[in-house]
Amino acid sequence: MRSSVAALLIRLIMIMALPVFLNVLAEEQTVLERPVGAEPAPLPVPNPTKSFWIDSTADANPLAKEGSHGALTHDADICIIGSGITGVSAAYHISRLLAAQPAPETPLKVTILEARDFCSGATGRNGGHLTPVAFQEFVEYAALYGVDDAVRAIALEHHTTGDIVKLIRESGKEAETDLIAGGHVSLLFTEPEVVKARADYAAAKAAGVQVDDVGFLTKEEVQQTYGAAYPGFRTPGHNIWPLKLVTHLFKIAKDTGANSSTSSLFLHTNTPVTSVTPSDATSRRWNLTTPRGSIACSYVLHATNAYASHLLPALRGPSGIIPTRGQVIALRAAVTSEEITRTGWGGNEGFEYWFPRPLSNISNSTSSNPGQERNPLVILGGGRESTRPDFELNIADDSVVSPVVGNTLRRFLPAVFPGKYEEGREPEMEWTGIMGYTKTGDPFVGPVLNPATGSSDLFKGQYISAGYTGHGMPRAYGCAEAVAGMIIADIQGKDWSIPDWLPRHHLTQNRVNE
Ligand SMILES: Cc1cc2nc3c(=O)[nH]c(=O)nc-3n(C[C@H](O)[C@H](O)[C@H](O)COP(=O)(O)OP(=O)(O)OC[C@H]3O[C@@H](n4cnc5c(N)ncnc54)[C@H](O)[C@@H]3O)c2cc1C
Repeated sequence: MRSSVAALLIRLIMIMALPVFLNVLAEEQTVLERPVGAEPAPLPVPNPTKSFWIDSTADANPLAKEGSHGALTHDADICIIGSGITGVSAAYHISRLLAAQPAPETPLKVTILEARDFCSGATGRNGGHLTPVAFQEFVEYAALYGVDDAVRAIALEHHTTGDIVKLIRESGKEAETDLIAGGHVSLLFTEPEVVKARADYAAAKAAGVQVDDVGFLTKEEVQQTYGAAYPGFRTPGHNIWPLKLVTHLFKIAKDTGANSSTSSLFLHTNTPVTSVTPSDATSRRWNLTTPRGSIACSYVLHATNAYASHLLPALRGPSGIIPTRGQVIALRAAVTSEEITRTGWGGNEGFEYWFPRPLSNISNSTSSNPGQERNPLVILGGGRESTRPDFELNIADDSVVSPVVGNTLRRFLPAVFPGKYEEGREPEMEWTGIMGYTKTGDPFVGPVLNPATGSSDLFKGQYISAGYTGHGMPRAYGCAEAVAGMIIADIQGKDWSIPDWLPRHHLTQNRVNE
């Protein structure tokens, strides 16, 4: 009898214990900065795992193979390499900037080149959160780059999410893109996390950041409302079907250019760029080589994120962009949507993130689950810390999943929300995607520079926006707006004015010798 009570107790402790290492973000940072072999990133692998966003329904990616056969565009004013949220947002902003001006004699030619199917990189494989930072990391950011830039880092995310939400609402695409304003709760599993969050909140507030819509929650409040026994804080936040957002942006960009006769937009998927070299043609600066032939361009935008160092080897290693594999599962909850609520979540210093898919959409279901239609599918990412000391850093292969990470993800939600998820239940889908990590967490935005001199001479006309460190949805669209503005200003011989909301530390010119 006594032994069965003990066994039950041990089992209870195992269920209640979180299956993740806690407070290891600082350790990840030291690993991130460790100089390893520093090989340039490879090209994206040709056979990625199947993600919910791309593969759960047959019609999710109508542009998947667009421009992958037939004639290749051989000449363009602007070539954008990469069809994720950065590349497509840049095309969108370019089309809008041009449409606001008188039509030129010949519309500007813009071409997007994508190594795999349309939007099949991180954007098509991520966690689906469109959640701006509210105050997190304020103290550290301000200490490193100044209070003004710390305020701008938050402003960029509010600018980006505000504009995306507005454009979706104005075009009536909320249902099509599954945009949900469910808010976001960050769980604080340990006391040091609570102390840090309070300090960041106070510092951001003192610097004038608007934090009225942030609410701290006690352990009891979280327990009562959501069924998890940890304190946390609630911030505004959305979730979305990222591929559908990007598909919509592409269509607007194409139509805007065509309707105003100011630009024409081409897309070539399954067309990897293997090199960017000076062009022999006098009218264009750069020659992009692909297995389908070459294309001459005056301007090149590297929107290749994790893979940036393949074409720009100086960006390899800890001073550049480190490919880092993220893993996600789609897990059916054991209770109804009413009990799960619509809230998006983060926990364990951001290592884990999850949200329930809306039930109204038929595409919520990836398999037949008779009797469980009212239980939402929850998209959960994270688990990288279970591979410490490696944290899945320096891995660019998204054709496989990690069993170690997968095991952690399967155990996480039943442990955090006892009774709301079935222990041992298999996910309906599981996939990986490659994030672009930088040691400061900030993306590189601006002209490509010679790292030895800080000059753009060797790269005239080449720009980059990449390296969002796993947090790109509330930043990439805004950063793409900045580089699009730089390129159009340069084409028109005008000065580019830096927006108030763009952190100065994101600019490539401020990152030399970092
Ligand atoms: C598993 C995972 C979960 C994530 N969860 C979230 C989240 O919930 N919220 C959030 O804000 N962020 C999240 N992120 C991060 C976010 O998805 C990225 O920051 C963002 O999608 C980056 O967009 P991008 O367009 O710059 O890069 P990508 O979407 O990766 O696009 C780059 C494209 O370039 C192509 N490419 C690369 N090299 C070449 C070449 N030589 N020639 C042609 N094409 C090339 C790639 O195939 C790819 O399609 C997550 C990322 C991953 C992987």
